[in-house]
Amino acid sequence: MADQCLFCRIVRREIPAKIVLETDECLAFRDINPQAPVHVVVIPKDHVTSLNEAKDAATVGRLGLVAAEIARIEGIAESGYRTVINTNADGGQTVFHLHLHLLGGRHMGWPPG
Ligand code: AMP
Ligand code: ZN
Repeated sequence: MADQCLFCRIVRREIPAKIVLETDECLAFRDINPQAPVHVVVIPKDHVTSLNEAKDAATVGRLGLVAAEIARIEGIAESGYRTVINTNADGGQTVFHLHLHLLGGRHMGWPPG
C-alpha cells in the first residue's frame, strides 16, 4: 500500500518533486497543479492514509507548524494564507496519504467550493 503510494514515493525520491522544506518527520513540496501563486503540500514522511487514520497529535500538529514556517519563508505570513486537509470523497481527497495544503499569494474566497 505505502509501496505504491504517490507521496511515499516522493519521500523515497522515486518520483521527483520541488521540495520546499524537509524535517525529520515532514516533507513539503510544491503542488504539481497549483491553485494559487503559493501552493505547497505538507506531509508526514510516515504513511497515514487520511485524517481519519491519524493517531498521533504531534503528527497532525507538525503539519500546521511546518506550513506556518513555509508561509514565513514564502513571504505570505502577514498577507495571509489558507491551510486545508481534504478527507475522503466529500472532502475532495485524491491522494490517500495525509497532507495539508498551504495556499496563498492571492485572496481566498469563502465558502470554499
Ligand atoms: P487532495 O486532492 O487533497 O488529495 O490533494 C492532492 C494534491 O496532490 C493535488 O492538489 C494534486 O495536484 C497534488 N499532486 C498530485 N500528484 C503530485 C505530484 N507528483 N507532485 C506534487 N503534487 C502532486
Ligand atoms: Zn504514503
